[in-house]
Amino acid sequence: SFARMMTTGQPNIGRFTGKPNPVTGKYTVPFIEGDGVGPEISKSVKDIFAAAKVPIEWEPCDVGPIFVNGLTTIPDAAVQSINKHLVALKGPLATPIGKGHRSLNLTLRKTFNLFANVRPARSVPNYKTTYQNVDLVLIRENTEGEYSGIEHVISPGVIQSIKLITKDASERVIRYAFEYTRAIGRPRLVVVHKSTIQRMADGLFVNVAKELASEYPDIELQTELIDNTILNVVTHPESYTDAVSVCPNLYGDILSDLNSGLSAGSLGLTPSANIGDKVSIFEAVHGSAPDIAGQNKANPTALLLSSVMMLNHMGLNEHATKIENAILSTIASGSENRTGDLAGTATTSSFTEAVINKL
Ligand code: NAD
Repeated sequence: SFARMMTTGQPNIGRFTGKPNPVTGKYTVPFIEGDGVGPEISKSVKDIFAAAKVPIEWEPCDVGPIFVNGLTTIPDAAVQSINKHLVALKGPLATPIGKGHRSLNLTLRKTFNLFANVRPARSVPNYKTTYQNVDLVLIRENTEGEYSGIEHVISPGVIQSIKLITKDASERVIRYAFEYTRAIGRPRLVVVHKSTIQRMADGLFVNVAKELASEYPDIELQTELIDNTILNVVTHPESYTDAVSVCPNLYGDILSDLNSGLSAGSLGLTPSANIGDKVSIFEAVHGSAPDIAGQNKANPTALLLSSVMMLNHMGLNEHATKIENAILSTIASGSENRTGDLAGTATTSSFTEAVINKL
């Protein structure tokens, strides 16, 4: 149905202005295949897009990293390609432990100013988990808060770690959340916070939302303490199906994983979008899954649903709906068409073939 589509749907609210190549009629999209299971799940996306005749030409995109004066940076060619084509699809990138460099994922967010992380989490029809009918959309501030990287030793055994909240970044993400809520036709925006304790920082975030609310009279603004949200989400997640939630960075990081666990019970199903001023990057929520890499075991659904969000963002809604329906009906069709993370017996490639047969 329309409602279902719009939830995974990343509404095109005027942010994507790319045009197809006038000769081929195709859009060029940089594809960062990533590490570990990345190449296997990327192949699944390419095969399904080719079978569905999506007017997209992939451009391989190598994001490095390169270390310049101890700073993690991305090769110029990749930055230029992504800036030119305005969207990119991204597989998981492994973060080496203990190297002392900023992670490549964080570097991508900073490089392209990807200020909003959109995480829809929905139950999959006919795939039984503890909770059914979960349909949550969370928008997380993606650039500051506890992720500002400002930490120092005050004296031995005493560390100060700064949570930075600015009016500009808060306004940008909350405005995006209002627009998104309106575009998917939900009546409520819930601001999740802890301003009883973080009076100034979260207080600013909440106040910005209240100020902006006058520009969106069609949307009811609610504020909710994060502890109440957690309790509500685990006791009756269905009460948020008419809402979009927005929150500062760290709360969003934690709450979105809770939402994924409730809706899918597997990381292999959860997609996301990273929205920037100019560029947006779409990626699975899971990591490189080194324990199953190269074994034809990975579930490509999270990356596939991320690519569906990208198609909706680009205004290619018909292709998006067709691919999404094929994925969901494949999973619904039984354990022989589900990968191991969903207690099924399918391989990455047999699942991909089954999806293609349902297009
Ligand atoms: P992970 O998500 O890679 O794996 C956690 C568990 O989930 C593993 O058992 C894995 O096999 C399973 N899993 C993940 N994706 C799956 C899929 N598509 N199909 C089936 N099973 C799947 O998390 P991790 O092990 O903590 O991290 C591994 C690496 O990935 C680390 O280097 C981490 O930094 C990186 N990482 C990257 C991203 C990203 O690029 N956005 C996100 C998270 C972690």
